[in-house]
Amino acid sequence: MERVWLSIGSNLSNPLQKVNNAIKALKDLPKTRLVACSSYYRSRPLGLKNQPDFLNAVVALDTNLAPGTLLIYIQKIELCQGRIRTKNRFGPRTLDLDILLFGKKIIIENHLVIPHYDMYRREFVLYPLSEIAPDLKLPNGVLISNQLQQVPFNGLTCWGKKDV
Ligand code: AMP
Repeated sequence: MERVWLSIGSNLSNPLQKVNNAIKALKDLPKTRLVACSSYYRSRPLGLKNQPDFLNAVVALDTNLAPGTLLIYIQKIELCQGRIRTKNRFGPRTLDLDILLFGKKIIIENHLVIPHYDMYRREFVLYPLSEIAPDLKLPNGVLISNQLQQVPFNGLTCWGKKDV
């Protein structure tokens, strides 16, 4: 079993429903157990500013799936929730699931890079992650509590503070 951390994001077509559905689908994955789920956060969009805020969360799974197999499963979940892939990495999306960490594995393949390439700089990843893994040592050797000191909130709030 490996402990895996996934980030979840959505800013289209009822994000609350999309994220709840995604978490339910993750719970149903074979050889996998959902261990923890962060609160739901509201973040400002990266890049393209003229789009709705994102709902973000991080979950922990214990899994016996191989990394590539887990990637295929999460991409199926994205598609089931109406994800249409566009070339714009920072555009609006119904559902985005990323593998942040997969145990202590370092993976650099065409379709899979772990740790996720931008996880150290994203407030909407690090704050939810620290909520459910406050003592985590990141693969760069830095404790998450110390990494957070380099990363401003950038307007991150609790999702529930505004109407969905
Ligand atoms: P995105 O637009 O963020 O959903 O990026 C999806 C693409 O990133 C897919 O084609 C994946 O193969 C690739 N990818 C690379 N590393 C990861 C990762 N750690 N988690 C999820 N997708 C990844």
